[in-house]
Amino acid sequence: MSDAIYTKLAHPDQQRPEDVLATALDHYGDRIGLAMSFQIGGVVLLDMIHRIGRKVSVFSLDTGRLPEETYACADRIRQAYDIEIQWVFPRHQSVEDMIRAKGLYSFKDTIENRKQCCSIRKVEPLTRALGMFDAWITGRRTDQMVTRRELKVIEDDPVHPGKVKINPLVHWSSDQLWEYTHEHNVPYHQLYDEGYLSIGCECCTRSCKGETDERAGRWWWESPEHKECGLHISYRDGSGI
Ligand code: SF4
Repeated sequence: MSDAIYTKLAHPDQQRPEDVLATALDHYGDRIGLAMSFQIGGVVLLDMIHRIGRKVSVFSLDTGRLPEETYACADRIRQAYDIEIQWVFPRHQSVEDMIRAKGLYSFKDTIENRKQCCSIRKVEPLTRALGMFDAWITGRRTDQMVTRRELKVIEDDPVHPGKVKINPLVHWSSDQLWEYTHEHNVPYHQLYDEGYLSIGCECCTRSCKGETDERAGRWWWESPEHKECGLHISYRDGSGI
Protein backbone atom coordinates (compact mmCIF):
# COMPACT_ATOMS: atom_id res chain seq x y z
CA MET A 1 0.00 0.00 0.00
CA SER A 2 1.02 3.65 -0.24
CA ASP A 3 1.80 4.24 3.49
CA ALA A 4 5.52 3.56 3.10
CA ILE A 5 5.97 5.95 0.19
CA TYR A 6 3.96 8.61 2.05
CA THR A 7 6.44 8.56 4.92
CA LYS A 8 9.30 9.09 2.49
CA LEU A 9 7.54 11.79 0.49
CA ALA A 10 6.25 14.35 2.95
CA HIS A 11 3.56 16.66 1.58
CA PRO A 12 3.54 15.14 -1.91
CA ASP A 13 1.11 17.78 -3.18
CA GLN A 14 3.75 20.45 -2.58
CA GLN A 15 6.62 18.60 -4.26
CA ARG A 16 7.97 19.25 -7.74
CA PRO A 17 7.16 16.39 -10.14
CA GLU A 18 10.89 15.66 -10.50
CA ASP A 19 11.21 15.19 -6.72
CA VAL A 20 8.15 12.95 -6.59
CA LEU A 21 9.63 10.85 -9.39
CA ALA A 22 13.06 10.60 -7.77
CA THR A 23 11.58 9.49 -4.43
CA ALA A 24 9.24 6.99 -6.06
CA LEU A 25 12.00 5.51 -8.21
CA ASP A 26 14.27 5.18 -5.16
CA HIS A 27 11.50 3.59 -3.14
CA TYR A 28 10.27 1.05 -5.68
CA GLY A 29 13.45 0.32 -7.66
CA ASP A 30 12.63 -1.92 -10.61
CA ARG A 31 9.10 -2.55 -9.24
CA ILE A 32 7.71 0.67 -10.70
CA GLY A 33 6.66 1.32 -14.31
CA LEU A 34 5.70 4.36 -16.36
CA ALA A 35 2.43 3.91 -18.25
CA MET A 36 2.86 5.47 -21.66
CA SER A 37 0.09 6.23 -24.13
CA PHE A 38 2.33 8.78 -25.90
CA GLN A 39 0.19 11.68 -24.81
CA ILE A 40 2.10 14.71 -23.67
CA GLY A 41 1.91 14.07 -19.92
CA GLY A 42 3.58 10.67 -20.12
CA VAL A 43 6.33 11.93 -22.40
CA VAL A 44 7.04 14.92 -20.13
CA LEU A 45 7.40 12.49 -17.21
CA LEU A 46 9.80 10.36 -19.23
CA ASP A 47 11.78 13.49 -20.09
CA MET A 48 11.95 14.48 -16.41
CA ILE A 49 13.17 11.01 -15.44
CA HIS A 50 15.79 11.24 -18.18
CA ARG A 51 16.91 14.71 -16.98
CA ILE A 52 17.35 13.62 -13.37
CA GLY A 53 19.57 10.83 -14.63
CA ARG A 54 17.25 7.97 -13.79
CA LYS A 55 15.74 5.08 -15.72
CA VAL A 56 12.31 3.51 -15.54
CA SER A 57 10.48 0.62 -17.18
CA VAL A 58 8.09 2.00 -19.80
CA PHE A 59 5.04 0.01 -20.82
CA SER A 60 2.27 0.73 -23.29
CA LEU A 61 -1.00 -0.91 -24.28
CA ASP A 62 -1.45 -1.60 -27.98
CA THR A 63 -5.21 -1.91 -28.27
CA GLY A 64 -5.01 -2.88 -31.94
CA ARG A 65 -6.86 0.30 -32.88
CA LEU A 66 -4.28 3.00 -32.27
CA PRO A 67 -3.69 5.69 -34.92
CA GLU A 68 -0.63 5.32 -37.13
CA GLU A 69 0.64 8.62 -35.65
CA THR A 70 0.86 6.97 -32.22
CA TYR A 71 3.19 4.27 -33.52
CA ALA A 72 5.31 6.91 -35.26
CA CYS A 73 5.46 8.92 -32.02
CA ALA A 74 6.34 5.80 -30.03
CA ASP A 75 9.25 5.03 -32.28
CA ARG A 76 10.55 8.60 -32.13
CA ILE A 77 10.42 8.49 -28.34
CA ARG A 78 12.04 5.07 -28.19
CA GLN A 79 14.96 6.41 -30.17
CA ALA A 80 15.16 9.83 -28.52
CA TYR A 81 15.38 8.41 -25.00
CA ASP A 82 17.06 5.12 -25.92
CA ILE A 83 14.43 3.06 -24.13
CA GLU A 84 12.76 -0.28 -24.59
CA ILE A 85 8.97 -0.01 -24.66
CA GLN A 86 7.20 -3.02 -23.21
CA TRP A 87 4.13 -3.30 -25.45
CA VAL A 88 1.23 -5.28 -24.07
CA PHE A 89 -1.49 -6.61 -26.37
CA PRO A 90 -5.05 -7.82 -25.77
CA ARG A 91 -5.74 -11.53 -25.68
CA HIS A 92 -6.52 -12.36 -29.29
CA GLN A 93 -9.25 -14.89 -28.49
CA SER A 94 -11.22 -12.28 -26.53
CA VAL A 95 -10.96 -9.76 -29.39
CA GLU A 96 -11.96 -12.36 -31.97
CA ASP A 97 -14.94 -13.53 -29.92
CA MET A 98 -16.20 -9.98 -29.40
CA ILE A 99 -15.87 -9.00 -33.05
CA ARG A 100 -17.47 -12.19 -34.34
CA ALA A 101 -20.40 -11.76 -31.97
CA LYS A 102 -20.93 -7.99 -32.24
CA GLY A 103 -19.04 -6.62 -35.23
CA LEU A 104 -16.13 -4.22 -35.57
CA TYR A 105 -17.88 -1.15 -34.17
CA SER A 106 -19.90 -2.55 -31.25
CA PHE A 107 -18.43 0.12 -28.95
CA LYS A 108 -20.63 2.72 -30.63
CA ASP A 109 -23.86 0.82 -29.97
CA THR A 110 -24.13 1.00 -26.18
CA ILE A 111 -22.03 2.11 -23.21
CA GLU A 112 -21.99 -1.51 -22.10
CA ASN A 113 -20.44 -2.58 -25.40
CA ARG A 114 -17.94 0.26 -25.18
CA LYS A 115 -16.93 -0.87 -21.72
CA GLN A 116 -16.56 -4.42 -22.99
CA CYS A 117 -14.24 -3.29 -25.78
CA CYS A 118 -12.14 -1.14 -23.39
CA SER A 119 -12.10 -3.99 -20.93
CA ILE A 120 -10.76 -6.47 -23.48
CA ARG A 121 -8.35 -4.14 -25.23
CA LYS A 122 -7.14 -2.05 -22.28
CA VAL A 123 -8.18 -3.14 -18.81
CA GLU A 124 -7.21 -6.81 -18.96
CA PRO A 125 -3.83 -6.06 -20.65
CA LEU A 126 -3.11 -3.37 -18.05
CA THR A 127 -3.83 -5.80 -15.23
CA ARG A 128 -1.37 -8.24 -16.81
CA ALA A 129 1.23 -5.49 -17.27
CA LEU A 130 0.92 -4.41 -13.66
CA GLY A 131 1.89 -7.90 -12.57
CA MET A 132 5.46 -6.70 -13.16
CA PHE A 133 5.17 -3.81 -10.71
CA ASP A 134 4.15 -2.66 -7.22
CA ALA A 135 3.53 0.91 -8.41
CA TRP A 136 2.90 2.72 -11.66
CA ILE A 137 3.38 6.31 -12.78
CA THR A 138 0.69 8.09 -14.76
CA GLY A 139 0.41 11.51 -16.42
CA ARG A 140 -3.14 12.15 -15.19
CA ARG A 141 -4.12 15.65 -14.05
CA THR A 142 -7.08 17.08 -12.17
CA ASP A 143 -7.94 19.59 -14.89
CA GLN A 144 -8.44 16.96 -17.61
CA MET A 145 -12.07 16.15 -16.92
CA VAL A 146 -14.82 15.91 -14.33
CA THR A 147 -13.94 12.33 -13.37
CA ARG A 148 -10.41 13.39 -12.35
CA ARG A 149 -11.08 16.32 -10.01
CA GLU A 150 -10.21 14.35 -6.84
CA LEU A 151 -6.89 12.92 -8.00
CA LYS A 152 -3.95 12.80 -5.59
CA VAL A 153 -0.21 12.66 -6.24
CA ILE A 154 -0.06 9.27 -4.53
CA GLU A 155 -3.03 6.96 -4.28
CA ASP A 156 -3.83 3.35 -3.68
CA ASP A 157 -5.07 1.94 -6.96
CA PRO A 158 -8.79 1.20 -6.51
CA VAL A 159 -8.87 -1.02 -9.60
CA HIS A 160 -5.71 -3.02 -8.84
CA PRO A 161 -5.62 -3.71 -5.09
CA GLY A 162 -2.12 -3.64 -3.63
CA LYS A 163 -0.74 -1.38 -6.37
CA VAL A 164 0.09 2.29 -5.86
CA LYS A 165 -0.41 5.00 -8.44
CA ILE A 166 1.98 7.94 -8.63
CA ASN A 167 0.57 10.98 -10.45
CA PRO A 168 3.38 13.61 -10.32
CA LEU A 169 1.64 16.03 -12.71
CA VAL A 170 -1.67 16.01 -10.93
CA HIS A 171 -1.65 19.77 -10.23
CA TRP A 172 -0.14 20.85 -13.53
CA SER A 173 -2.17 22.68 -16.14
CA SER A 174 -2.13 21.98 -19.84
CA ASP A 175 -0.26 25.28 -20.31
CA GLN A 176 2.49 24.18 -17.93
CA LEU A 177 2.87 20.92 -19.83
CA TRP A 178 3.27 22.70 -23.13
CA GLU A 179 5.69 25.26 -21.67
CA TYR A 180 7.86 22.40 -20.42
CA THR A 181 7.55 20.60 -23.77
CA HIS A 182 8.73 23.59 -25.79
CA GLU A 183 11.40 24.64 -23.32
CA HIS A 184 12.98 21.17 -23.33
CA ASN A 185 12.23 20.21 -26.93
CA VAL A 186 10.24 17.18 -25.84
CA PRO A 187 9.07 15.14 -28.86
CA TYR A 188 5.30 15.17 -29.00
CA HIS A 189 2.47 13.39 -30.80
CA GLN A 190 1.75 15.03 -34.15
CA LEU A 191 -2.04 14.81 -33.71
CA TYR A 192 -1.83 17.65 -31.16
CA ASP A 193 -0.98 19.93 -34.09
CA GLU A 194 -4.25 18.83 -35.73
CA GLY A 195 -6.43 19.97 -32.84
CA TYR A 196 -6.48 16.82 -30.72
CA LEU A 197 -6.45 17.46 -26.98
CA SER A 198 -6.39 13.83 -25.86
CA ILE A 199 -5.37 10.82 -27.93
CA GLY A 200 -6.51 7.22 -27.64
CA CYS A 201 -7.83 4.64 -30.10
CA GLU A 202 -8.29 6.06 -33.60
CA CYS A 203 -11.97 5.16 -33.86
CA CYS A 204 -12.84 6.69 -30.47
CA THR A 205 -10.82 9.92 -30.67
CA ARG A 206 -11.29 13.01 -32.77
CA SER A 207 -9.94 16.53 -33.14
CA CYS A 208 -11.80 19.07 -31.00
CA LYS A 209 -10.56 22.55 -31.82
CA GLY A 210 -12.16 25.25 -29.66
CA GLU A 211 -13.08 22.85 -26.84
CA THR A 212 -11.83 23.43 -23.30
CA ASP A 213 -12.64 19.97 -21.95
CA GLU A 214 -9.49 17.99 -22.72
CA ARG A 215 -11.42 14.75 -23.15
CA ALA A 216 -14.10 16.25 -25.43
CA GLY A 217 -12.65 14.36 -28.39
CA ARG A 218 -12.79 10.97 -26.66
CA TRP A 219 -16.04 8.93 -27.00
CA TRP A 220 -17.76 12.14 -28.03
CA TRP A 221 -21.11 10.35 -28.28
CA GLU A 222 -21.10 9.75 -24.48
CA SER A 223 -21.71 12.22 -21.65
CA PRO A 224 -18.60 13.47 -19.74
CA GLU A 225 -19.18 11.48 -16.56
CA HIS A 226 -18.95 8.26 -18.57
CA LYS A 227 -15.62 9.03 -20.20
CA GLU A 228 -13.27 6.66 -18.42
CA CYS A 229 -12.03 3.46 -19.98
CA GLY A 230 -11.74 1.41 -16.80
CA LEU A 231 -7.97 1.77 -16.45
CA HIS A 232 -8.36 4.13 -13.50
CA ILE A 233 -11.95 3.66 -12.31
CA SER A 234 -13.49 0.30 -11.71
CA TYR A 235 -16.55 -0.60 -13.75
CA ARG A 236 -17.64 -2.77 -10.85
CA ASP A 237 -17.60 -0.34 -7.91
CA GLY A 238 -20.22 2.01 -9.23
CA SER A 239 -17.89 5.00 -9.08
CA GLY A 240 -17.10 5.04 -12.76
CA ILE A 241 -18.57 4.10 -16.09
S1 SF4 B 1 -11.20 3.38 -26.88
FE1 SF4 B 1 -12.72 2.50 -28.34
S2 SF4 B 1 -11.63 1.01 -29.67
FE2 SF4 B 1 -10.29 1.57 -27.90
S3 SF4 B 1 -10.65 -0.05 -26.47
FE3 SF4 B 1 -12.07 1.58 -25.88
S4 SF4 B 1 -13.99 1.23 -27.03
FE4 SF4 B 1 -12.39 -0.10 -27.91
